[in-house]
Amino acid sequence: MTSELENKKIADLLLPNIIKKTGDYISKYPPRNLPEDAKVTRFGPSPTGFLHIGGIYTALISERIAHQSDGVFFLRIEDTDKTREVSNGTAQIINALKEFGLSTDEGPQSESICLNSGKYGPYKQSERVDIYLTFAKHLLEKGLAYPCFCTKDELETLRKEQESNKIRPGYYGKWARHRDAGLKEIEDNLKNNIPFVIRLKSDGVEENSFVFSDLAKGKINVTENNNDIVLIKADSYPTYHFAHVVDDFLMGVTHVIRGDEWLSSLPIHLQIFKFLGIKAPFYAHISPILKLENGSKRKLSKRKDPESSVDFYFEKGYPVDSIIEYLLNIANSGFEDWRRGNPYFSNMEFPVKLEKISKSGALFDLNKLDNISKEVISKMTAEEVFEKTLTWATSHNKNFANILTENRDFCLQIFSIERNDKKPRKDFASWSEIEESISYFFDSKFEQVKVNSNLFPEHLTDTDIQEIVDSYSNVYQEENNRDDWFEKIKTLSESLGYASNIKDFKTSPDSYKGHVGDVAMVLRVMVTGKTQTPDLYEIMNVLGKERVLKRLKF
Ligand code: GLU
Repeated sequence: MTSELENKKIADLLLPNIIKKTGDYISKYPPRNLPEDAKVTRFGPSPTGFLHIGGIYTALISERIAHQSDGVFFLRIEDTDKTREVSNGTAQIINALKEFGLSTDEGPQSESICLNSGKYGPYKQSERVDIYLTFAKHLLEKGLAYPCFCTKDELETLRKEQESNKIRPGYYGKWARHRDAGLKEIEDNLKNNIPFVIRLKSDGVEENSFVFSDLAKGKINVTENNNDIVLIKADSYPTYHFAHVVDDFLMGVTHVIRGDEWLSSLPIHLQIFKFLGIKAPFYAHISPILKLENGSKRKLSKRKDPESSVDFYFEKGYPVDSIIEYLLNIANSGFEDWRRGNPYFSNMEFPVKLEKISKSGALFDLNKLDNISKEVISKMTAEEVFEKTLTWATSHNKNFANILTENRDFCLQIFSIERNDKKPRKDFASWSEIEESISYFFDSKFEQVKVNSNLFPEHLTDTDIQEIVDSYSNVYQEENNRDDWFEKIKTLSESLGYASNIKDFKTSPDSYKGHVGDVAMVLRVMVTGKTQTPDLYEIMNVLGKERVLKRLKF
């Protein structure tokens, strides 16, 4: 029997139910009809129930690269590892994409979020098993793959032997026991119902290396793969290596954008493309988001860092745009300058460039996220702040949601403070901070707090404070405009022996009890219970005469 015939027989014996040919799928999924420079990218998460912020980071880059080139961005659920799958994992991924505004052009048909289910589906790998088996059968027929009947124990023994001989572990060369098994041996194993995997018959040479141009990392040196890696597992599901190659080819992906943990297996992937006789897409391997710990950098860890999960951001109530802008800032350092130059553009218009992505990995910095978020919220109208806070509170803080709904107009006035100014207030970074930060506006909360006398300027006595509070109560008029309001505090300061400007106070401190800032601080603390607040004049206006006078009782 020629080896070609024998290979065909082996392929039929192993996969008797696979009758389609690779050509059938190639014609079922013809090349996409897109403009020449259009890029096709995908997000391929596994539905494990944990969505890492790094996943959203690569999804964001993939989405922008596709849509900024008039291309296609789709979602493919990589659910071939059934042991790691959780039941609502797919829905969670879809919701997160929706939440982050990362719109997919194609995706799993069953999920309503994908407006266009797409012609390149199914978009769940578990529904594409026959496709992988067809391509695996093709490799078997060509003698480029073979069945391996090694048990777990046998593989473990092999690994130990390699380890004790200080040899690189793996299934390759003389260690690959089943690599050259003939038809008879395979037939016997099948008759005995011994489970098998299908392995790649690697032609790689460990000593050979070549240069690869990665769109994010630049030129890198990679070593050929000589491991006979598994393509199809014993449960008939493909490995990631094989599935993504087959899928990215049939689904017309032009740019694979993924985490750089996959860089080490790139030689395997390029080899599979070569064996299948198809052109590999472009690859961009993205460095992970790093964290500084005890002076050294490490990856954000699912186990140790709550901020590695997207749920962390939803729970804290960061506006989606804040997270997106923060991630864009990590992706391309030019984002900040762009934002400064275009303060009111949608972040969608920022052109993401793969070649500008940090090669070594960017440090994650929650303070930076807060600053970006304060900026983002400062540009929102009071109505937007109200609606978004309410949406967040409805699912995360029911009590606060009720307070907001019952006091809508009052809250809108609170959120309007310093909002329409040239330099709007930048005090909120997330919706979860708002309840505490505006609590003093509500009498029930304010009364609980009890003004802390340590907050008053240290050098003032109780008598001084009493005097300021009483005198101010006598002259306070709700209808005063900002200038009159301030003039009044200055005049009052002078009449009580405080300098009406700080310069005078600095020139001769002994001539005064303090300065106008001290007087204003006493009023601020009395009215709000805090030393730092937005504009006191506006706060008093929102509180109204009755509340202000009630609070000015020392
Ligand atoms: N399922 C893979 C992962 O979750 C996808 C990697 C890729 O994008 O190719 O890491």
